[in-house]
Amino acid sequence: MSINWFIIKVANRCNLNCTYCYVFNRGDNSWNKKPPILSAKNIELICLRIAEHCRQHNKQKIVIELHGGEPLLIGKKSFEELALTLRKYCYPTQIELCLQTNGLLLDSKWIELFVKHQTTFSISVDPTPTGIASARIDKKGNDSTPELIKLINSLAHTPEFKATFTGALCVISNKTDPVFVVDWFYKNNMHNFDLLLPDANYSNPDPDTSTDFVKSFLLKAYKRWIGIDDPKFRIRIFQHLIQKTLGAESGLDALGGKINDMCVIESDSTIHHHDVLKICPNLSNHSLNLLTNSIDDFCNNAPDFLDISLPEKCTTCRHRDICGGGYLPHRFKNNSFDYPSYYCDVLYGLIDEIKDSLNHLEHHIPTI
Ligand code: SF4
Repeated sequence: MSINWFIIKVANRCNLNCTYCYVFNRGDNSWNKKPPILSAKNIELICLRIAEHCRQHNKQKIVIELHGGEPLLIGKKSFEELALTLRKYCYPTQIELCLQTNGLLLDSKWIELFVKHQTTFSISVDPTPTGIASARIDKKGNDSTPELIKLINSLAHTPEFKATFTGALCVISNKTDPVFVVDWFYKNNMHNFDLLLPDANYSNPDPDTSTDFVKSFLLKAYKRWIGIDDPKFRIRIFQHLIQKTLGAESGLDALGGKINDMCVIESDSTIHHHDVLKICPNLSNHSLNLLTNSIDDFCNNAPDFLDISLPEKCTTCRHRDICGGGYLPHRFKNNSFDYPSYYCDVLYGLIDEIKDSLNHLEHHIPTI
């Protein structure tokens, strides 16, 4: 086993306080014992360890995704240092460098740096109708979205922005409405986005949003998307489900894709498996420190649960090959992942709907 997808948490703090955030607001407080920002010393160490792993496994290409907290809090100078050091040490392995930001610290200088260092970015955004309390709030409790839209509108016309912006991510929330959300992205020229299931499982259900709500939301959003009927307007979850319904592969982790070839490296240089496993109570997330251990040491001691096969109920499900049992962290219950997704009913109903509507979908057959 080896790692192809590295998430580096370059900042362990955030300028927002989103109510659903699994890093800061879902019961795990380990973030406050870690350095707020990745230091120059740890940039050097992490790049050396990744390069060592690339050489060991003769990697042609790896993905490096910068996360937080809010990754832009690392600052421009340290971002440049990280990008340059990674590519220098890992050569000839190709580095696909990307970052996931809340967008509020973006400016033209950041966009220029992204172009210079061949970095793409996507933005997390949760549009909420006027008069409804947003989940995406700043430290004072104010909705951050109006400010974000102002900022994006001031940058989006440039070729540099168009070349580096890959799309948006939106978490489904009971604070909003599916038709409003789909129309909002269309109207605001964000024509490539994804709707994410709120991270939850049987042992840690989402306190605010029921699975019935999520199902109804996705069915309505899907119908609205089909109704808009613009082949350039892409919603990832729907496109991957259509692709799988037509018999193609997708690899999307939310649809049964593996998460064992990825890792998270924290600002204190510890390495562990996907952060979202924090929603699984009492699960000991295998963790080592890159100061004393290599990435191969980490891989050689990976826990068995990452390789678990489909639960029995899923093996007899008629949507098994499309749904793949859903997202592994959503299958957790009683210290085991041997259960269908917490969102089983949601996925089952959505796939039924997609199959029924396939005859009208020629425009939306994806090229991924
Ligand atoms: S729809 Fe439910 S039973 Fe079927 S594969 Fe998905 S999680 Fe398993």
